[in-house]
Amino acid sequence: MHSLLKLLPVALFLIPGPAHAVDRKHPTHRTTHGLPVQLRSGESTEPYHPPTSFETYGAGVSHPLSGRAAFNLQNAAVAYATSKLTASNGNAVVYTSGYSGDVVQNAYLVQTHDGVPFSNAVANVAFNKNNSVISFGSSFVTPNFITASVPTVTFAAASAAAAAQLNGTYNNSPVSVEYYVTPNGSAALVYTFEIQNIALGTWYRAFIDAHSAQFVSALSYVAHATYTAIPVSQQDPTGGFANIVDPEDYTASPLGWQNSGSGSNSTGNNAISWKGTSAGTTTQSSAPDVFAYEQNPALAPSAPQNVDAARVNAFYVANTLHDIFYQYGFTETTFNFQNSNQGRGGSQSDALSISVQDASGINDISFATPPDGTPAILRSFVWNYTTPNRDGALDNDLLIHEITHGLTNRLTGGGTARCLKTVEALALGEGWSDAMANWAAKNSSATPDFVIGKYVTNSTAGLRTYPYSTSLTTNPLLYSSLQTLTEPHGTGELWANALYQVYAGLVAAHGWSPTARTNPDGKEGNIVWMHLFVDALGLQPCSPTFLNGRDAVIQADVNRYAGANACTIWRAFASRGLGVNAANYVDDFTVPSGC
Ligand SMILES: [Zn+2]
Repeated sequence: MHSLLKLLPVALFLIPGPAHAVDRKHPTHRTTHGLPVQLRSGESTEPYHPPTSFETYGAGVSHPLSGRAAFNLQNAAVAYATSKLTASNGNAVVYTSGYSGDVVQNAYLVQTHDGVPFSNAVANVAFNKNNSVISFGSSFVTPNFITASVPTVTFAAASAAAAAQLNGTYNNSPVSVEYYVTPNGSAALVYTFEIQNIALGTWYRAFIDAHSAQFVSALSYVAHATYTAIPVSQQDPTGGFANIVDPEDYTASPLGWQNSGSGSNSTGNNAISWKGTSAGTTTQSSAPDVFAYEQNPALAPSAPQNVDAARVNAFYVANTLHDIFYQYGFTETTFNFQNSNQGRGGSQSDALSISVQDASGINDISFATPPDGTPAILRSFVWNYTTPNRDGALDNDLLIHEITHGLTNRLTGGGTARCLKTVEALALGEGWSDAMANWAAKNSSATPDFVIGKYVTNSTAGLRTYPYSTSLTTNPLLYSSLQTLTEPHGTGELWANALYQVYAGLVAAHGWSPTARTNPDGKEGNIVWMHLFVDALGLQPCSPTFLNGRDAVIQADVNRYAGANACTIWRAFASRGLGVNAANYVDDFTVPSGC
């Protein structure tokens, strides 16, 4: 996260930056900061609320006006809250609202300075029916710096600044002048008002410095999404659906996953999922952005609720992979799939298009990757091995396999999508895709055998010749198997299994991170594996061979980890015949001297 502070060379202490340098992983961050709002400048800002205190008093305590005969909620609340206010010099407490219920009387208050209310320093006092105080909540502050209470720039200047940064227009909402406490403890005088962009479905409250027209903060009124889908850590629906709330990563997807609004549907900046035509999307089951459609396995895939479940699951998986891949380096500048690249470089207008229950085939799934700037198309078909039939869009294995074709085709050779077309490179492509499905399905440091496509085939053997396994008995494929295997998925199995050996070696050496899907910063083996996977794709030549692919992984480790994992990686490849002297599909099981 960057701070706008660096853009403001003068009077840094006067002008609070919107994105104060707070560690998002700090445990208290989630209690004081809201979701990031992306600015046109490329920076982001998060709404801030000072730490809140909350005290409860059981049967109740007295307040400064307890001695009075008549109880007045407003006066009593102001008196009590004022007694809790530590800030002096023009600070006061003002009653904003309150009510008397069956058993409690609630009052809501705001801190003011020179008569100007604070946006984010508020309090609430509750009284019981005996008029004793039973609780007090407060985010009152003692600012370490506060600017003058009369604006020195016009509202027109402030609204222009907000409109520019938030890519919208001022919507004639009421404007107020308030103080905004920032994470660094200072209080800025701000104009606050709303900025909307109807076409984009965005709607913000902006806080603009009333002395400089600089951006202070913003919050979004648009709530975030809920998807009923199969978690990406599960291979298929047999483990059940889950309600997945706010899964977006706002670094990878600053616009979120949805085109939010009254017609919110399975369409967004990264992907669209549809049936029949691109207009055949799934619309939210309730606003805002709730997609609660669970498959009924007793009904055919074509049953309306199952069509919705399929479109939502495919949409969820595609966006999840977008965000995972993004964190590991598949971004706008490295040719990823997005409609808008948000000014971050690369070619845009190429969100992934997913056709579920595509009518052009059966018992299959396909992915077409054109160059950066042209949308890829994933066609998912129904499988008729069972009654009722099963839907490939509910088999996360298959979706991850296909979407990984987009990653490998775009990263190899610089976004041309022309570099995995030789027979051997096609095989590598199939191998990477199965290996990614295997990686995504891991939920512990264990490295059990892995079978892809069990659900659609209704078979424990799945779609491949052997399970992926670290056992040469269970999966005997070697580099020399390429002498007899020719079909890409078949030869790809050797590559996927070799990468599984690498994975197992790295996890054995470095452990396993449960947060690898959302946090690429750890040192655990599954994170290292994913970094090497993505890094190697960009290093390897156009039309790579298996040996090129191996060498690129070894070099990626040098680049990122100073070669710390060289022997682990060599041992893994050598175990499958891809040792240092492997050539011409003749196995070699040796590792470099020193390993
Ligand atoms: Zn494939």
